[in-house]
Amino acid sequence: MTGSAFSTGLARGTAALGTALLDLLYPPRCAACGEGLGSSAEEPFCVICARAVDPVPAGCRSCGLPGIDALCGACLSNPPSFTACHAGGLFGGPLADAIHALKYRDRPALARPLGAWLAGRVSLPQNSAIVPVPLGRKRRLARGYDQAALLARALAKAKGLPILPLALARTRETKPQVGRTRADRLRNVRGAFRAVPAIRDRDVVLLDDVVTTGATADACAEALVLAGARSVRVLALARTE
Ligand SMILES: [Zn+2]
Ligand SMILES: [Zn+2]
Repeated sequence: MTGSAFSTGLARGTAALGTALLDLLYPPRCAACGEGLGSSAEEPFCVICARAVDPVPAGCRSCGLPGIDALCGACLSNPPSFTACHAGGLFGGPLADAIHALKYRDRPALARPLGAWLAGRVSLPQNSAIVPVPLGRKRRLARGYDQAALLARALAKAKGLPILPLALARTRETKPQVGRTRADRLRNVRGAFRAVPAIRDRDVVLLDDVVTTGATADACAEALVLAGARSVRVLALARTE
């Protein structure tokens, strides 16, 4: 065994030991109901919660709005800069509980099983690069971590795709999107992102935790396309109806 192979093996062994120790100290629990999952579980949900996640019904070809044939009115009148929008499930029930825990209850470790769960539910084009929607600086400092960046890392690992974690940056702070109308959301985030030139000619999978109207995703996609990205498709853990 060469020195580097030995040290890689040692590093893997140490990482595995670390994971085993963590599992012993903090046995994996269902991200939604807290039920024990047994050691070495890679799934975020127990069997009952996994079954209770609603799939996203077929919808608008562009933004994915459920229950629409072909294109929705908003995409017809104002086509988004992304080509498709998919999510692991509908926002609600166990999926909403898990996302809430990841974002607001200081559970960054949930990003790994949730990212792997999402990876198992979508097919992504080969050679695409994963880019997370960046969290505002103030919110990242308050939370201590960026959940979309952690999810992106887990998804990229599960899919064997590259991640470009710093491809997008916010040019200004935006107010939270919760409780705003679609028009208001678009105004709030328009021009709030900038993409790096390294994105040129890449097919991008833009990752966020939740997609609602797609306004934030569209502002990000616009910045990526402006910087020369060949295509942008949006992916989220969940989408609202
Ligand atoms: Zn459960
Ligand atoms: Zn649409």
